[in-house]
Amino acid sequence: MSRIIPNVCYAGEFQKYYCPVCGKEIFNEGYKDPCAHLLFSYVIEGGDFEYVAPRIGNLVEELAKEDDPDIDPVEYVLEKVNSESILCFTIVIEGIGCGPVSISDCIAIDFDNTL
Ligand SMILES: [Zn+2]
Repeated sequence: MSRIIPNVCYAGEFQKYYCPVCGKEIFNEGYKDPCAHLLFSYVIEGGDFEYVAPRIGNLVEELAKEDDPDIDPVEYVLEKVNSESILCFTIVIEGIGCGPVSISDCIAIDFDNTL
């Protein structure tokens, strides 16, 4: 079972965040050249994966074929990967647009991946 931390909250302007293993910036020009530890990024409000590591691309394709609205995409992928070395946390970025707005980004980091 992977470890899940519910929320890390940033208020105000967009903040940079970094891989806790190697220190590389996680969101770098839209996940351009991500580090090997980033397994996926899933934006809850958008209901979609923003980044998927190539090695789990098949799982996300399988998920897309499932026709069950009750499936939690993050839990589905974490369960299929079934690794003890994955930390998954949600970063909530809050700000003001035409009213209060927020984006919740689930980030999964694989501490053991050295590919
Ligand atoms: Zn890293």
